[in-house]
Amino acid sequence: MRRKLVAGNWKMNGNTEFAAEFAQDLKAKLDAAEVTCDVMIAPSAPYLALLANAFSESNIQVAAQNVAQFDKGAYTGEVSASMLSDLSCQASLIGHSERRTLFGETDEVVAAQVSQLVEQGITPVLCVGETLEEREAGNAEQIVENQLKAVLERFSVDQLKNLVVAYEPVWAIGTGLTATPDQAQEMHAHLRSVARELDEQWADSLTILYGGSVNSKTAKELFAQPDIDGGLVGGASLKVDEFFEICQSA
Ligand code: PEP
Repeated sequence: MRRKLVAGNWKMNGNTEFAAEFAQDLKAKLDAAEVTCDVMIAPSAPYLALLANAFSESNIQVAAQNVAQFDKGAYTGEVSASMLSDLSCQASLIGHSERRTLFGETDEVVAAQVSQLVEQGITPVLCVGETLEEREAGNAEQIVENQLKAVLERFSVDQLKNLVVAYEPVWAIGTGLTATPDQAQEMHAHLRSVARELDEQWADSLTILYGGSVNSKTAKELFAQPDIDGGLVGGASLKVDEFFEICQSA
């Protein structure tokens, strides 16, 4: 039985005051309620240590939004997987569509990032998703399959035991357009069937999140789909009440 996971991606938002208040509020709300899902927050890098410290006595996980593809050296501006481990980060997003489109991160870069994370025992949260043009051209399944296979083909099941996949259709990110539960379920089932080619048992235990304008109104029906194991939430993760309601839906 897979546990549901709700992960918040703050993107490039927030400051020290916001992060400290959010952490305190979320912890209090989760402590007072019966929330059965796992919860993760991915702040901007400067606030990782603050959140790791604030959540140290709780089960809330802290994730980076990105990680270097190299282990150390002359890579100005980059943050390595060992630095994330040093900050007690349990996970890192990789391959987010904003990284792929705005910063040119390719499947090869993403695979190198997985390698760095695996080496440090940090959970890779691999984001995959098609653009609207790709969906309208009937290529959505092939595009996300290729993005997933670019990782699956390079690693063993043992190396990928902690992998989390997030299906995020690019046309649904930050647009207010959510995939319908049927559209999302169809793609999640496809991703799981691709994962089965590597290992059946592993594929059955693989956590596959849906992301793309998830909010407290849409979360419940999305998370009720058999292959949707929770959500990666962007905009709605910046409001603690809204994010908490989404956690309660899981
Ligand atoms: C995201 O950034 O991963 C995301 C899903 O954003 P939003 O929920 O705002 O669409």
